[in-house]
Amino acid sequence: MPRDAVSFGFDNTFARELETFYVPWQGEPAPSPALVQFNRALAGELGLDPQVLEGAEGAAIFSGTVAPEGSAPLAQVYAGHQFGGFSPQLGDGRALLIGEIIDCNGQRRDIQLKGSGRTPFSRRGDGKAVLGPVLREYLMGEAMHALGIPTSRALAVVTTGEQVMRERPEPGAVLTRVAASHLRVGTFQFFAAQQDMDKVRRLADYAIRRHYPELADAEDRYLKFLRAVIERQAALVSQWMLAGFVHGVMNTDNMTISGETIDYGPCAFIDVYSPDAVFSSIDYNGRYAFGNQQRIAQWNLARLAETLLPLVHDERDESIRLATNEINAYPAIFEAFWLTGMRAKIGLVGAEEGDGQLAEALLEAMHQGKADFTMTFRALAAHMRGDHDAIAEAFGDASAVTQWLEQWQDRLLRDNQQTNSRAEGMDRVNPLYIPRNHKVEEALAAAVAGNDFAPFETLLEVLRDPFTSRAGLEDYARPAPKDFGPYVTYCGT
Ligand code: AMP
Ligand code: MG
Repeated sequence: MPRDAVSFGFDNTFARELETFYVPWQGEPAPSPALVQFNRALAGELGLDPQVLEGAEGAAIFSGTVAPEGSAPLAQVYAGHQFGGFSPQLGDGRALLIGEIIDCNGQRRDIQLKGSGRTPFSRRGDGKAVLGPVLREYLMGEAMHALGIPTSRALAVVTTGEQVMRERPEPGAVLTRVAASHLRVGTFQFFAAQQDMDKVRRLADYAIRRHYPELADAEDRYLKFLRAVIERQAALVSQWMLAGFVHGVMNTDNMTISGETIDYGPCAFIDVYSPDAVFSSIDYNGRYAFGNQQRIAQWNLARLAETLLPLVHDERDESIRLATNEINAYPAIFEAFWLTGMRAKIGLVGAEEGDGQLAEALLEAMHQGKADFTMTFRALAAHMRGDHDAIAEAFGDASAVTQWLEQWQDRLLRDNQQTNSRAEGMDRVNPLYIPRNHKVEEALAAAVAGNDFAPFETLLEVLRDPFTSRAGLEDYARPAPKDFGPYVTYCGT
């Protein structure tokens, strides 16, 4: 890759401090790179100059054709449990970390290309990405960010000018994404599987410095590190559950140490509430179903704990005991985050013993009554304000929730809070606009098949402010029309 004059101000700690944890690598030149999306808001946060990057130089950089000044492009190695089975070597098969920058808030962020060509970790893959899934990742990341859920975000999308073979030829594209880091549970697993404990320790020390600096000098810092990752993941997955988000491929290589959501493949938001909701075409047994996510997160965290055992204590039995305690604490930590979130969603101000049961009972009623997850919570606030049609609109069968509404009203009486401010508070945490599956598909189809990015950009605008009701956007707040049918998503795209 030739060098370029645009300044990113890179400070590449991973490349500098963890040599032998990656392979220095170059992007494949794209025949005809064209920038089709650029995230100006994010560029601003990163202190990057949109004027320069929106031109031809940006297209060359964000396709992997040109390496910007100071970049040290590399492919990271990692392992991972995929659908429960261990793959001892995965790694960036179509991604390149081009460098790290410190953003305007002083946070270190990775800049990574996805789809920039084959690497030593590509296995049988072609190293490429195609436009539809790349735009999907862009949209989902921005939607999650606007919902206040920690996530990687897209900075740019470039089409490469070549056709890439999938089920049919598709326009090739490269996504530039920004994340707190790309350290994964699977990164630890790779070195632990090689029984290279020196490298696991160096990786843990690096992860602590980068994501949990308050632990750097702590006694028992590796156990505390495990606890801290458990807390961040419990917080994250509780937010997924409160928003109705199904990640779809919670393999350990897709679970971050930072606590951000990454790797948007077959993910989707649920419409009709069901704990069994699965969208991914390859998740035959529902391992990653909506209601399984907290359990899978715990399972993945246990895999992280295993890699850290030799660091936790000199005696193996004692390490196992200590790490097991941390893993066993996960459900209660998750529950506490989730309940705090549910209280806010249903407008409870104080905390009572029975609140968890009340929240669970609502989900049960939603399941029975085939309720739209997102609409239900907005409908509760509307109901509170006296709009009694809202519940009926959200539910297929509103009789399933009648009794619950009475229990809820009784509970509300015991809080000292005015109806108006309570309903307003609910609307601030319950989104009106989520990436509805039919809307996402509509936007992607127009962009990919018709080179028309207007629906994509409109949807992006809607999702950037998910809580504020706006005239003319009614259609974005409604479930899919009946003829949309069951929704299926794909990974490895
Ligand atoms: P994912 O399911 O996207 O998390 O990917 C799992 C693994 O497969 C990762 O190591 C990816 O780098 C790799 N991979 C996915 N798609 C491709 C591709 N088209 N070419 C090369 N590697 C890929
Ligand atoms: Mg992945």
